[in-house]
Amino acid sequence: MTARGSSRADVGVKDGRIVAVGDVPRAERELDASGKLILPGCVDLHTHLASTPTFTPLDDFEHGTRAAIAGGVTTVCSMVYQEGTLRAGIERGMRDAGRSLADFAFHVVVTDPSDAATGELPSLAADGHAGLKVFMVAPHFDERISDYVRLLRAAAEAGMLVAVHAEDHAIVARATAELHSAGHDDVRYFPESRPPEAEDVAIRSATQLAAKTGAALYFVHLSSRVAVAALAEAKARGLVVFGETRPLYLYLTRERFERPDAALWVGQPPLRERDDVDAVWDALRSGVLDTVGTDHYPHRRAAKLAPGLAFDRVPPGVANLETLLPMLHSEGVRRGRLTLERMVDVLATSPARIAGLQGKGDIAVGSDADLVIFDPDLVRTIHASEMHSACDYDPYEGWEVTGWPTLTLLRGQTAYADGEIVAMPGQGRLAVRQALQSSRARGME
Ligand SMILES: [Zn+2]
Repeated sequence: MTARGSSRADVGVKDGRIVAVGDVPRAERELDASGKLILPGCVDLHTHLASTPTFTPLDDFEHGTRAAIAGGVTTVCSMVYQEGTLRAGIERGMRDAGRSLADFAFHVVVTDPSDAATGELPSLAADGHAGLKVFMVAPHFDERISDYVRLLRAAAEAGMLVAVHAEDHAIVARATAELHSAGHDDVRYFPESRPPEAEDVAIRSATQLAAKTGAALYFVHLSSRVAVAALAEAKARGLVVFGETRPLYLYLTRERFERPDAALWVGQPPLRERDDVDAVWDALRSGVLDTVGTDHYPHRRAAKLAPGLAFDRVPPGVANLETLLPMLHSEGVRRGRLTLERMVDVLATSPARIAGLQGKGDIAVGSDADLVIFDPDLVRTIHASEMHSACDYDPYEGWEVTGWPTLTLLRGQTAYADGEIVAMPGQGRLAVRQALQSSRARGME
């Protein structure tokens, strides 16, 4: 099963790579996948597994990638943060990822777009770290716009993909202040504090920046009808822009915010209306959206539900690595919203291509043997107690899901089989990110 189609075939693996697809001579070790699907390992371009100088996530590389491989995700891209230099953030990520069970890569978050940081880009790209992230929702984004323009120009020149958190700071700050001054501090007001207009405005201004600088942009976690419409317009202009959504926006609506435990579903942006959910599915099917990334960043129940937390103080993020593939199969493919090919495309082939992860995301001769044997009829109910995340709740607790991985191979080695994690911490390797063709080579300048 690939993004191009399906066939009944054997897959031959040698030295961690795929050496044959179709008729394969007898091998030293054979795995029987009859009646099941063989999928390329999923590539999740959006996780938060690395530490910062002041914080270690609940799901660090070890715990997060246990969940990943149990869910058929064999490559994770984690955010790392600038620490003075961008390089220092990557070095911290490399140290943390020494415990990874899956292959890994990074987006380095630029928090200070100084000339020095911009000057680092060519050497980072040359070392296989061709990815940045910027937060338009950061208070300084507009004030330092000329620094960001220089950064984006340099990123275009170096062939670095720029992931963008597209919510407009001014709109979010104003809505948040108005709610607080009206005494509306409760978590139930969280969705109002980050309206879809904040996404719309930010995507449109980022689109202008892409046109001006030639930078290739990857919009993360798009959640609303207006957001995917703005992305479609940017694509229609011929700009190199990509869009990701996140499982939360496919399965849940803001009705969750009427519950007393609403804080469990706080993520940025918030859950939206049914109409937005429908628009996100349509965009995923049509190709306006390119990928589904988890934004995996869980916090314990007690941290999410701490008494007296105002809506803008709840730590954002949920666990999603283990359920990414099974739920998209169950809710997308089985319900007729996506074809199997499209599912493989948005979970594996497109993310690998967009991030420059050569050898990942496909079943083809020469690719890494990152393979998932997937039982499309296996029914399981999601219980946090059975998941591999360190988190003590699951955002989809009690959801009945049809189709689960039964075996995951990472570069030909069994990493997960029949409910057991087999891979050891440290088995994951850096997945080198190839630089994109620079904007000059694309003829945009
Ligand atoms: Zn994120």
